[in-house]
Amino acid sequence: MIVSHPLVARIQALARELGFSQIGIAGVDLSSAEEGLMQWLAHGFHGEMKYMATHGTRRARPAELVPGTVSVITARMDYLPRDTPLDDWQTVEFDRLARPGEAIVSVYARGRDYHKVLRARLARLAERIAEEVGPFGHRAFTDSAPVLEAELASRSGQGWRGKHTLVLDRSAGSMFFLGEIYVDMALPESEPVTAHCGSCSACIDVCPTKAIVAPYRLDARRCISYLTIEHGGPIPLELRPLMGNRIYGCDDCQLICPWNKFAKKSALPDFDAREGLTGQALAALFAWSEEDFLRFTEGSPIRRIGHERWLRNIAVALGNALRAGESGAAEALATRASHPSELVREHVAWALAQRPER
Ligand code: SF4
Ligand code: SF4
Repeated sequence: MIVSHPLVARIQALARELGFSQIGIAGVDLSSAEEGLMQWLAHGFHGEMKYMATHGTRRARPAELVPGTVSVITARMDYLPRDTPLDDWQTVEFDRLARPGEAIVSVYARGRDYHKVLRARLARLAERIAEEVGPFGHRAFTDSAPVLEAELASRSGQGWRGKHTLVLDRSAGSMFFLGEIYVDMALPESEPVTAHCGSCSACIDVCPTKAIVAPYRLDARRCISYLTIEHGGPIPLELRPLMGNRIYGCDDCQLICPWNKFAKKSALPDFDAREGLTGQALAALFAWSEEDFLRFTEGSPIRRIGHERWLRNIAVALGNALRAGESGAAEALATRASHPSELVREHVAWALAQRPER
């Protein structure tokens, strides 16, 4: 089925009603991205994210993943919480990072789990489209391993790939989620936008762990987002002191990006920061029992990492706070010195050893 532009404009209008900021249309021939994907995997940059490799070239071949797919609708949803002070929000976030006793959760994870929000709204968008054009084949994804999400987004005009590898746009920065609907109707492809990183290398320079090993190339094994969320075992010793007070994710390469002056607030209340996840002392979050953890992270993406990794991450941050002379860090760590988990005990022991020599 060939459908002309008015339908795309209509999809955009329906999407806006559902809280999306922009719609794009990508084709399904991503073959030129396959080589880069294979090289990244061959370097082992995906770390323990085996699922990245599992799907192989199917990731770059939407029609193999979902037979019958001929177009991909890409959707962008801005996520800055609605009370973000847009004039200086990047400075506010850097100031938080400079307070060693404060626990920093990545901005995107302070509210509801975006997987749930986007999946439900993409499903609703597909229903609304079907109400207008009749039934059609489709499948929705958000942040899902089999999909080359950033590639589809950049091909369909959502932005360009920055040197930090994320998609960013001149009018919206990079603080947005992406979702896709694979569809069996042919839609006119959107024009990609031109890249505007120029000679800037701020994201590469600011990265605490030097995880952006070259422009457009991320070694996930060094990335704090990966280490605090995806990585299951002990955090490499040499990276722990570089993690500062970041306990879930990391935003530094986005905070420094000049284009994020134009980042947008969410149209939805879902991503507003929950009480208990911003402005909190590391010691307070370290004191959460497993029941507390489950209660406070209900419906949050943080719940996925479980209490053990939560404690592991906070132990590292408390060790860094202890080294910075933060009072109370040693006492907080001591409460978990006999924790039943070997992983937690080892990170607590490392953290306690960070006490500066007198
Ligand atoms: S998220 Fe943090 S650790 Fe990862 S690349 Fe960006 S700045 Fe580096
Ligand atoms: S910080 Fe600079 S190099 Fe990095 S994504 Fe932003 S504009 Fe591009």
